[in-house]
Amino acid sequence: MRIDGRTRLVGIIGWPVEHSCSPLMHNAAFQALGLNWCYLAMPVAAEQLVEAVRGLVALGFVGVNVTIPHKERVLGLADELDGAAAAIGAVNTLVFREGRIFGYNTDWLGVRATLNRIEAEPAGKKALVLGAGGSARAVIYALAQAKIGTILVAARRPQAVQALEELAAVEYVPWQELNLARAAESADLIINTTPLGMSPHIHLSPPLPPEVFNSSQKVFDLIYNPRETRLLACARSKGAVTIDGSLMLVEQGREAFRLWTGIEPPLEVMLTVLGLS
Ligand code: NAP
Repeated sequence: MRIDGRTRLVGIIGWPVEHSCSPLMHNAAFQALGLNWCYLAMPVAAEQLVEAVRGLVALGFVGVNVTIPHKERVLGLADELDGAAAAIGAVNTLVFREGRIFGYNTDWLGVRATLNRIEAEPAGKKALVLGAGGSARAVIYALAQAKIGTILVAARRPQAVQALEELAAVEYVPWQELNLARAAESADLIINTTPLGMSPHIHLSPPLPPEVFNSSQKVFDLIYNPRETRLLACARSKGAVTIDGSLMLVEQGREAFRLWTGIEPPLEVMLTVLGLS
């Protein structure tokens, strides 16, 4: 990669950001397309978010991805928000244009692409969402957009589920084995948004026994490391169609790439560089 006086800059702000796959993914795409662009990972502490964003605008950055813990707070710094970002209440992509800050949420597009890939066709169906944190908001927005029939949300804290009601009608399922099993048995689509099973804790899993899965179900785990969590292995062993979070990761990046450059990135290159193809 050549960096010179004309290099256009984008990147990611968060705390921490060292673990982010996005620099690898975007820089590989820039290189494959011969674009003189560079994507940087920039750790920004919570108390310096406002100065950091102003600084990026002043330095002529084209835009940035935003990750934990800034996704919600950065909303207030945008001059304009797209409809999804406003509804979800989180921004994961900023675009700086003519001194103005535009905020987008592309996470839900990654969810939508994943549901399309497994032909989940949520309209009128019943989904069980495990977890009620940040990514659950994008999941529930995507399910509502796809006109899902019923959304059950299993979580440890009922208040967290209440907060999701502004996005769609949701039913709370207490995080106990029996309740989870009953809800899972009746669901067409099961989506894990908890970190249970993510590397290095690959022995963990939401407490769902193999009996609750069947071959007419689709099971989506947002985790992409490892590619097959214990949850997915268990569901697959009962014939359910399963998918991990790698397509979601790459699709949210693809949309950000398009917003910044106006160019379609090479999806295969992005998946390959992450070892996910
Ligand atoms: P988050 O905001 O911290 O939410 C995590 C949710 O999981 C919360 O509801 C939390 O409940 C629940 N949870 C955590 N530990 C639990 C446990 N031991 N038992 C029961 N529930 C538990 O995190 P997030 O940003 O939504 O991310 C969640 C996962 O999605 C991570 O693994 C992340 O890597 C993955 N992710 C993937 C993509 C992708 O592109 N594929 C994008 C975003 C996120 P409490 O509130 O009670 O703690």
